[in-house]
Amino acid sequence: MYNPKSLKAEEFIDNQEVLDTLAYAEECKDNMEVIDSIIEKAKLRKGLTHREASVLLACENPEKIKEIYDLAEQIKKDFYGNRIVMFAPLYLSNYCVNGCVYCPYHHQNCNIQRKKLTQEEIKKEVIALQDMGHKRLALECGEDPVNNPIDYVLESIKTIYSIKHKNGAIRRVNVNIAATTVENYRKLKDAGIGTYILFQETYHKESYLKLHPTGPKHDYAYHTEAMDRAMEGGIDDVGLGVLFGLELYKYEFAALLMHAEHLEAAWGVGPHTISVPRIKKADDIDPSAFDNSISDETFCKIAACIRVAVPYTGMIISTRESEEVRAEIIRLGVSQISGASRTSVGGYTEEERPHDTEQFDVSDQRTLDEVVRWLMETGYIPSFCTACYREGRTGDRFMELCKSGQILNCCHPNALMTLKEFLMDYATEETVKIGEKLIAEEIEKIPNPRVKEIAINNLSSIKNGSRDFRF
Ligand code: SF4
Ligand code: SF4
Repeated sequence: MYNPKSLKAEEFIDNQEVLDTLAYAEECKDNMEVIDSIIEKAKLRKGLTHREASVLLACENPEKIKEIYDLAEQIKKDFYGNRIVMFAPLYLSNYCVNGCVYCPYHHQNCNIQRKKLTQEEIKKEVIALQDMGHKRLALECGEDPVNNPIDYVLESIKTIYSIKHKNGAIRRVNVNIAATTVENYRKLKDAGIGTYILFQETYHKESYLKLHPTGPKHDYAYHTEAMDRAMEGGIDDVGLGVLFGLELYKYEFAALLMHAEHLEAAWGVGPHTISVPRIKKADDIDPSAFDNSISDETFCKIAACIRVAVPYTGMIISTRESEEVRAEIIRLGVSQISGASRTSVGGYTEEERPHDTEQFDVSDQRTLDEVVRWLMETGYIPSFCTACYREGRTGDRFMELCKSGQILNCCHPNALMTLKEFLMDYATEETVKIGEKLIAEEIEKIPNPRVKEIAINNLSSIKNGSRDFRF
């Protein structure tokens, strides 16, 4: 029985409710009156229910789709402006006891080289990341209680935060590790992590069990209820995601939003982020073996519908996607992207991009400087901001800030100040030229005069060698 407040996976992701939602969406998809009323509701920028958003996703009328895209773009502009937050993944270990059939790190894969970074190797990776200009990382680690116990993850986080190379620092470590216990989530919280990210992969239980035939991840309920345990352990910024291509996308979309509604109903705070990865080629993985793969067009439609359904939730895209797809999907709603990623264990210290321990193929292979320049040339402000978590603005305090509209007075100057740091410390001459011009234009757009004045002073202090200012 569907109950968004329940803490049981099968009740907050009730299969029958998803099926009823899909049937309702099919029934309404040509009903312009219903679609118009949903678009009108979305314009209030307070979000949509999973049923309403599913109707928009099912709609095939080109005019209405354009309206949805335009609205997504407008909501994106209103909430996130033209800022794009940058991050990089850091792979700690590819030892894994699970049997996920879509991931080359699965236990049975004997072809792939297994590797786990020592603390010394982590230091070198972090220095390489800092030397590119990164300030925000997403830690990735396979599930293996012997090789990658929680103490290893905690020690690694401590190491990462301790490294201050030249003007570099990693100021926010988001963590993407397997579902774990409340006690371990509490330890992660105490270690000062930013967001805890865990992809559901698929919400469809039957498929989930087949796609995860062995290992602890086989337990659908334990995996699906992980965010509740994270919340219980005090982590109030959590990131959801599904791996598009495994199951029917409409099913995943409805269930993903039901998960978001559940977190809001049970804990009073929705997800901090939603990631939208698509299945990609890797060592012994062939994406064509999965018959639910989605076109670029559908992928963009999903992003637009997520944007209008959950305006306060950041949306993340990785370097799995090509430059073209990233450009379109950023326009429609994505607010965070990775740059210059290496998806292998120890990849950042290698001269050439290594493939022997890679989790998936990287489509966008540009350097961070190139991605930053490209964003600026297409009208965006690359931001290395990590202020909220460091100012204690997490969970409902973060949501309050979003809803008050004051986020413009924080995100915008923070983006400009962290971009200035990047230009001073890491950028090429050409990027500096474009960046300085952009900062001069964008500083004028800070609404609060006092904030603007402080930001201008801080920018000149950064020029004179000071670092790490934030609102
Ligand atoms: S998806 Fe994660 S849990 Fe599954 S095999 Fe890959 S690393 Fe292991
Ligand atoms: S101020 Fe907060 S919400 Fe805005 S970019 Fe920085 S960390 Fe993100």
